[in-house]
Amino acid sequence: MRYTVIGAGAMGLRYGILLQEHTDAHVDFIDAWAPHIDKIREQGGVYVSRDHENRRLIPINLYTPEEYDGDPDVWIVFMKQMQLEDMLGRCAHLFKDHQVVFSAMNGWGHFEKIARYFPEDRIYGGTALVATVLNGPGDVDFIGKSGAGTMHMCAMTNEVTDIEKAIFADFQKANLNPEISDDFKGMCMAKIVFNSVVNTLCTMYQITMGQFISYPGARDMAMQLINEAYDACERAGIKLINTRDEELESVDYVSRTGNPLHYPSMYQDMSRGRKTEVDYINGYIARLGREHDYVCRTHEFLTHGVHLAELAFQYH
Ligand code: NAD
Repeated sequence: MRYTVIGAGAMGLRYGILLQEHTDAHVDFIDAWAPHIDKIREQGGVYVSRDHENRRLIPINLYTPEEYDGDPDVWIVFMKQMQLEDMLGRCAHLFKDHQVVFSAMNGWGHFEKIARYFPEDRIYGGTALVATVLNGPGDVDFIGKSGAGTMHMCAMTNEVTDIEKAIFADFQKANLNPEISDDFKGMCMAKIVFNSVVNTLCTMYQITMGQFISYPGARDMAMQLINEAYDACERAGIKLINTRDEELESVDYVSRTGNPLHYPSMYQDMSRGRKTEVDYINGYIARLGREHDYVCRTHEFLTHGVHLAELAFQYH
């Protein structure tokens, strides 16, 4: 199988390098961030650590969209939501009828953009419960020992196809711990709600996931956000793959046991002066609610809260 990763950032590198190392797939990467591309070329690959240890240089095939002329079976897309439209436009000349796309980006907004280039029956979504940090150009840290993290995947049509089974088999070999779901929107929303609690609160208060869950009121705060999001989803006719209680336990488990020392990716963006994806997470839940005559007051407030935190960070 041939994979090309669009977005050689933290997660694109994690998926691509694990596939490159643990399967017989051919993997290429496309990126557009010049300092990152220059550094990788200069040092002859990407420095990869595991939990800040065993830093080693791994060569990768890296191209800009304009340089690339490959023809993969599967595109893996891992951009930030705000960058995606421009990047897909730059890659459009490479898209062909036999190819499929897989993306496990956070939030909601990427599938609408991808669907401008690919029909629904060639789009596969995923959700990745794993932490990865791009320390800087050419240097990435896969948080958690080998085999850490879990993920769900599902076709946009909810049908399990042969190509999905092949991708699943490669993801298994790559220790990504995949599970196939049969409910695309319910799967995506469960991760969006998770992120709307953990990413958002950790980012606003500049704390790790473990610090958040150690606060005695953390579960109450989480439940309020979960309830509001689930109420909006019910009105929109979306049934999530987790119950409300399972969602709370997932927030608790991942924060307390899975990645207690991790700052979520929205915090990493804010701390580097980049915009966060909050409009696609809490902002999306709030929009979904409004579209169905339900006001998600806490999610609306927190969307502003994160934007205010982005602004406040600039003053420090
Ligand atoms: P990332 O920011 O590391 O990389 C995305 C793109 O941004 C890449 O093309 C990268 O080269 C570029 N980039 C990185 N830093 C930049 C900078 N300072 N200026 C300009 N461009 C820069 O993003 P990611 O963490 O890989 O996230 C991709 C998607 O996966 C997002 O939707 C994210 O929410 C989701 N996700 C991330 C994690 C995680 O732990 N990082 C986990 C699950 C899901």
